Amino acid sequence: MRESPKDPVEYAGLRCRKCGDQRFRVIYTRAAPGGKIIRRRACRACGSRITTWERMVGI
Ligand SMILES: [Zn+2]
Repeated sequence: MRESPKDPVEYAGLRCRKCGDQRFRVIYTRAAPGGKIIRRRACRACGSRITTWERMVGI
């Protein structure tokens, strides 16, 4: 499995709860049991951090 630490920030619908900015940078990406991917992200504007879970499909 390949991971791209510098993947472009384009996550539709994701918004910072503090400032509403939609641009996040990925701090780290991690595979989780059950075919999920955990991404830790930080808002580019205010630095607020969130965690997102993504499901891998088509494996
Ligand atoms: Zn923010």
